[in-house]
Amino acid sequence: MKTQKRPLSKSVQDGTGGLKCDNVRCDYSDDTPISEYKNCINKPCPDCGRSLLTRADYDLFLKVQELENHPVLKVVTLVLTPVSKVLDLFLKIWKNISLPYLSVEFNGTGKLVPKIRRKQ
Ligand SMILES: [Zn+2]
Repeated sequence: MKTQKRPLSKSVQDGTGGLKCDNVRCDYSDDTPISEYKNCINKPCPDCGRSLLTRADYDLFLKVQELENHPVLKVVTLVLTPVSKVLDLFLKIWKNISLPYLSVEFNGTGKLVPKIRRKQ
Protein backbone atom coordinates (compact mmCIF):
# COMPACT_ATOMS: atom_id res chain seq x y z
CA MET A 1 0.00 0.00 0.00
CA LYS A 2 1.41 3.32 -1.03
CA THR A 3 0.40 6.36 0.93
CA GLN A 4 0.70 9.91 -0.33
CA LYS A 5 3.76 11.69 1.05
CA ARG A 6 2.90 14.83 2.98
CA PRO A 7 4.64 18.01 1.82
CA LEU A 8 7.28 19.58 4.05
CA SER A 9 6.11 22.28 6.45
CA LYS A 10 6.29 25.82 5.13
CA SER A 11 9.18 26.76 7.45
CA VAL A 12 11.28 23.79 6.31
CA GLN A 13 10.54 24.55 2.65
CA ASP A 14 11.48 28.21 3.06
CA GLY A 15 14.54 27.38 5.16
CA THR A 16 13.27 29.73 7.86
CA GLY A 17 13.01 27.09 10.58
CA GLY A 18 10.87 24.07 11.27
CA LEU A 19 11.89 20.57 12.26
CA LYS A 20 11.78 17.47 10.10
CA CYS A 21 11.71 13.87 11.30
CA ASP A 22 15.09 12.11 10.86
CA ASN A 23 13.39 8.87 9.85
CA VAL A 24 13.55 8.65 6.04
CA ARG A 25 10.29 6.68 5.97
CA CYS A 26 8.48 9.33 8.01
CA ASP A 27 7.33 12.58 6.45
CA TYR A 28 6.57 14.51 9.63
CA SER A 29 7.65 18.15 9.70
CA ASP A 30 6.52 21.18 11.66
CA ASP A 31 6.95 24.94 11.93
CA THR A 32 9.07 25.13 15.09
CA PRO A 33 10.84 28.53 15.06
CA ILE A 34 14.65 28.48 15.15
CA SER A 35 14.59 30.21 18.55
CA GLU A 36 12.83 27.09 19.97
CA TYR A 37 15.32 24.55 18.60
CA LYS A 38 17.30 24.29 21.83
CA ASN A 39 14.13 23.17 23.66
CA CYS A 40 13.50 20.46 21.07
CA ILE A 41 16.73 18.44 21.36
CA ASN A 42 15.76 14.74 21.36
CA LYS A 43 12.06 15.61 21.19
CA PRO A 44 10.32 12.52 19.78
CA CYS A 45 8.45 12.62 16.49
CA PRO A 46 4.67 12.50 17.17
CA ASP A 47 4.28 10.05 14.27
CA CYS A 48 7.11 7.53 14.68
CA GLY A 49 8.87 8.42 17.94
CA ARG A 50 12.29 9.04 16.42
CA SER A 51 14.19 12.16 17.46
CA LEU A 52 13.30 15.36 15.60
CA LEU A 53 16.56 17.05 16.53
CA THR A 54 19.60 15.19 17.84
CA ARG A 55 22.25 16.90 19.96
CA ALA A 56 24.78 16.33 17.14
CA ASP A 57 22.52 18.08 14.63
CA TYR A 58 21.82 20.95 17.00
CA ASP A 59 25.56 21.49 17.59
CA LEU A 60 26.09 21.44 13.84
CA PHE A 61 23.21 23.85 13.34
CA LEU A 62 24.90 26.30 15.74
CA LYS A 63 28.13 26.03 13.75
CA VAL A 64 26.30 26.65 10.47
CA GLN A 65 24.57 29.67 11.98
CA GLU A 66 27.91 31.00 13.16
CA LEU A 67 29.25 30.60 9.64
CA GLU A 68 26.19 32.27 8.12
CA ASN A 69 26.78 35.26 10.36
CA HIS A 70 30.44 35.47 9.41
CA PRO A 71 31.15 38.99 8.08
CA VAL A 72 32.92 37.73 4.94
CA LEU A 73 30.01 35.47 4.00
CA LYS A 74 27.57 38.31 4.69
CA VAL A 75 29.37 40.49 2.15
CA VAL A 76 29.44 37.67 -0.42
CA THR A 77 25.70 37.08 0.09
CA LEU A 78 24.99 40.80 -0.17
CA VAL A 79 26.75 40.91 -3.53
CA LEU A 80 25.50 37.61 -4.96
CA THR A 81 21.85 37.71 -3.88
CA PRO A 82 20.83 40.65 -6.13
CA VAL A 83 22.77 39.10 -9.02
CA SER A 84 21.00 35.75 -8.64
CA LYS A 85 17.63 37.50 -8.22
CA VAL A 86 18.06 39.42 -11.47
CA LEU A 87 19.22 36.27 -13.25
CA ASP A 88 16.30 34.32 -11.78
CA LEU A 89 13.80 36.95 -12.95
CA PHE A 90 15.42 37.06 -16.37
CA LEU A 91 15.21 33.26 -16.77
CA LYS A 92 11.62 33.23 -15.53
CA ILE A 93 10.54 35.77 -18.13
CA TRP A 94 12.71 34.41 -20.89
CA LYS A 95 12.36 30.65 -20.49
CA ASN A 96 9.83 30.28 -17.72
CA ILE A 97 12.31 28.44 -15.51
CA SER A 98 13.49 29.27 -12.03
CA LEU A 99 16.99 28.77 -10.69
CA PRO A 100 17.54 25.85 -8.36
CA TYR A 101 19.06 26.76 -5.04
CA LEU A 102 21.13 24.90 -2.52
CA SER A 103 19.76 24.20 0.91
CA VAL A 104 21.07 21.95 3.63
CA GLU A 105 19.28 19.38 5.72
CA PHE A 106 20.11 17.75 9.02
CA ASN A 107 19.36 14.04 9.34
CA GLY A 108 20.33 13.25 12.90
CA THR A 109 23.89 12.18 12.15
CA GLY A 110 25.49 15.56 12.83
CA LYS A 111 26.41 15.81 9.15
CA LEU A 112 24.93 18.20 6.60
CA VAL A 113 23.02 16.83 3.64
CA PRO A 114 23.09 19.26 0.70
CA LYS A 115 19.86 19.38 -1.31
CA ILE A 116 19.17 21.15 -4.58
CA ARG A 117 15.70 22.63 -4.51
CA ARG A 118 13.55 24.58 -6.89
CA LYS A 119 11.20 27.32 -5.83
CA GLN A 120 7.58 26.25 -6.26
ZN1 LIG B 1 8.76 10.55 12.39
